[in-house]
Amino acid sequence: MKYIEEFRNRELVNTLVKAIANKSTKPLRIMEVCGGHTMAIRKFGIQHLLPPQIELLSGPGCPVCVTNRTAIDRAIALASLPETIITTYGDLIRVPGSASSLNQEKAFGKDIRIVYSTMDALEIARANPGKNIIFPGIGFETTTPSSAVALIEAQSQKLDNFFLLSMHKIMPPAMAALIDQGVKIDGYIGPGHVTTIAGADMYRPLVDKYDISVVISGFEPVDLLQSVYMLVSMAEEGRHGVDIQYRRAVTDKGNSKAMQIVNRVFEPCDDEWRGLGLIPGSGLKIKPEFSNHDASEHFSINTPPAHEPAGCLCGEVLRGLKKPIDCKLFSTVCTPANPIGACMVSGEGACQAYFNYR
Ligand code: SF4
Repeated sequence: MKYIEEFRNRELVNTLVKAIANKSTKPLRIMEVCGGHTMAIRKFGIQHLLPPQIELLSGPGCPVCVTNRTAIDRAIALASLPETIITTYGDLIRVPGSASSLNQEKAFGKDIRIVYSTMDALEIARANPGKNIIFPGIGFETTTPSSAVALIEAQSQKLDNFFLLSMHKIMPPAMAALIDQGVKIDGYIGPGHVTTIAGADMYRPLVDKYDISVVISGFEPVDLLQSVYMLVSMAEEGRHGVDIQYRRAVTDKGNSKAMQIVNRVFEPCDDEWRGLGLIPGSGLKIKPEFSNHDASEHFSINTPPAHEPAGCLCGEVLRGLKKPIDCKLFSTVCTPANPIGACMVSGEGACQAYFNYR
């Protein structure tokens, strides 16, 4: 299939819906760990097409949602330093910290600028040699390469005023942590974009350790239903494994050039996830060779312990233990225009996806 209409073809959708219903005999809890999938599932109403014994859960797949409050508070503290410009992606600017957000700080006069790529941030560093430019790097395997390229470029161009605050995360340790924390999951819809970069082989240790299946999926209705069918088939046949539905973009090995660049700049570290806590080996810190561009090394900042707003269930939502509609603040106090928790900020957050496609 080549065109988007084919991936939304009603006959194909109906055929897959029937095939899933015919195949499925037992309860199955399937979690998607990609914000793009969360949005697509809600947008196309995929959950309504499945038999009742199949439950779809939203997991920690939205980059800004899993960035914990301490990290946001640190970015805000950096914005208060003299002669500093914070450059950030548009979603992050709206995520609430403990007492403020980058957006509010911008309104109070801090120099905080939205950029569309790390290259824009480098350009600002070039144009402002007397200022420190800090880019808070968030996201999973998909966005890490562009942060790595920015550091390599900053070093080769001697842009000593460019700094990265690395909040980058690795997906498989979080998928393992959810199981270790007792969340009942029978199979994962694997993230399409993350796996395009990192390759499907990265899930094999997870599958072997936990006897669980992962199917890497595309983002259209036919993709998602076919992925569910593949997970149902494996469960019904008593098999576990990694499979790729999204073969038009994903391979077992991924984009080796991008991963080489990432591995040149970053090394794994333990990291805090919103809702999931500290997960060993789930983050990426800047290697010593690039430490002169590491904001957490260069600037001394202390922030008081972070706290979550009363009533917000983002932590439970990100672990698939609660649905956004279980939160009393959902669509009353907390809306996309006035997000109380991180899951309502981005279109990829579970709460905003539920809000937009109620
Ligand atoms: S509705 Fe708002 S406050 Fe409630 S869990 Fe979602 S983001 Fe948090």
